[in-house]
Amino acid sequence: MINKKRSHYHFTLEVKTLTNRADLKRYREVERLLKRFFLLFGNLCSYCFSESMAAISSGIRPNKAFCCCLIDNQVHDHWEALREVQEIVNGPNWVRAINENSLETGRRRLPGNGPCKALCSQGCLLSSMRPPGCSTLVCSHMVFVLCELKLIEPRDIEDCEIDKLLGAVSPLEHLYGLKRGDTPSEEAFIKALLFIESKFRNVPNVTRNSAIKAAQKRLRHQLQGGKKR
Ligand code: SF4
Ligand code: SF4
Repeated sequence: MINKKRSHYHFTLEVKTLTNRADLKRYREVERLLKRFFLLFGNLCSYCFSESMAAISSGIRPNKAFCCCLIDNQVHDHWEALREVQEIVNGPNWVRAINENSLETGRRRLPGNGPCKALCSQGCLLSSMRPPGCSTLVCSHMVFVLCELKLIEPRDIEDCEIDKLLGAVSPLEHLYGLKRGDTPSEEAFIKALLFIESKFRNVPNVTRNSAIKAAQKRLRHQLQGGKKR
């Protein structure tokens, strides 16, 4: 199953500062909580991926509605930091799975230098310690679901960073070694995340599933309405 993927945003990469095991441990915990939150969107990502692949096959030009990992490349954008982190956590052979299983979409690159090299037909090949941006995008399809369920204030349905949605700054870029300076408070971020997660979890399944289905219908419509090459 495709799991949570990533952003149309690109962060400016500052000079890499060495991260350390203690920070990476904290990173993993926040990443785990974010993953749990995104799992509440059910099969939205796998649906998005398969519909996007079908749209590409039928000649539709990739656009913003597409699966984020197809039109973005976090592995490329954050290669140095990713390599360092993965080597610390998973040892020198971590990249083998990516080299052997990366999705082939032909020679042509997609917008944003996608697809991401860590993407395979089953989803992301990195089970943890992905670049921070992979865990902080709330894509437009997800924003739609949250608005449908009235879990967030009504807003334009567009991609958004989870910081904005929670009103708390993510510590992930600092913990990953991408940013210098004081790390934003994990406590405040986690507290805000757990709050929205519990509201989301308390929505009856039938209501949640119906909002996810509505998002899928809208997504399909957006993809099929895209321009042909
Ligand atoms: S690392 Fe994984 S989640 Fe992040 S953009 Fe690449 S495929 Fe998507
Ligand atoms: S664009 Fe949204 S729904 Fe689609 S794969 Fe990315 S995170 Fe999932």
